[in-house]
Amino acid sequence: MRKQIAAANWKMNLTLEQGEALLNDLLAIPHTLTENQEVVFGIPFPYLTSIKTKLAGKTNIYVAAQNCSNKRSGAYTGETSVEMLKSIGVDYVIIGHSERREYFNETNAMLAEKVNLCFEYGLKPIFCCGEALEIREAGTQNSFVENQLIESLFHLSAEQLTGFVIAYEPIWAIGTGKTATSEQAQEMHAHIRAVLTTKYGSAIANSISILYGGSVKAANAKEIFGQPDVDGGLVGGASLIAEEFAAIINSLK
Ligand code: PEP
Repeated sequence: MRKQIAAANWKMNLTLEQGEALLNDLLAIPHTLTENQEVVFGIPFPYLTSIKTKLAGKTNIYVAAQNCSNKRSGAYTGETSVEMLKSIGVDYVIIGHSERREYFNETNAMLAEKVNLCFEYGLKPIFCCGEALEIREAGTQNSFVENQLIESLFHLSAEQLTGFVIAYEPIWAIGTGKTATSEQAQEMHAHIRAVLTTKYGSAIANSISILYGGSVKAANAKEIFGQPDVDGGLVGGASLIAEEFAAIINSLK
């Protein structure tokens, strides 16, 4: 059975002290993780090492960087390489979040380079895809998302793709309070899995966790995660509130 994952995306929020306090509060709330469930904290670069240390020994709880460079190494001031992240024990990296695509002009081709480096260094990508409102209104969301996958992931072999996580995040639902209905989420997740099946076969497609992201909160997590092709969530705003995120963790299948 594929992994069910609650992934937090703190974005550019919280000081280290605030982040540690949030984690203390969260870990103090009873939550149970089965063997098949994971919690991932997507935290700012400067806190990766200290939060990783803080979480040491906790079963099925991991840290993710929110980005990585598409360059291997060298004269790229301000960039953080995949090799650097690997060297400090980071487990996952969020790739292609819509905010990075929109504000930092990340293209599908650049994301393919990041994905290649992740595979090479053994870091697991949480690869984000999802359409803007105009595309949803035009009814072309399926082909749009399919193209994102084709251009950034489909050069990989089945073996290389194993262990990757995909996050479907409709842009119109991120940070807006407007969640996709569970039917809309299931429809797109089933489409993504069908596209993966056509390219890689059903064994690989059924092993890949596909997370939903877009205004997930305690009140809607159970219904969304209950859909057959939804394997958890990538959570922004609600991951900054201990009680909310604990309830989201407890909503995993
Ligand atoms: C996100 O940051 O990926 C996200 C889905 O944010 P929010 O939960 O706040 O919509």
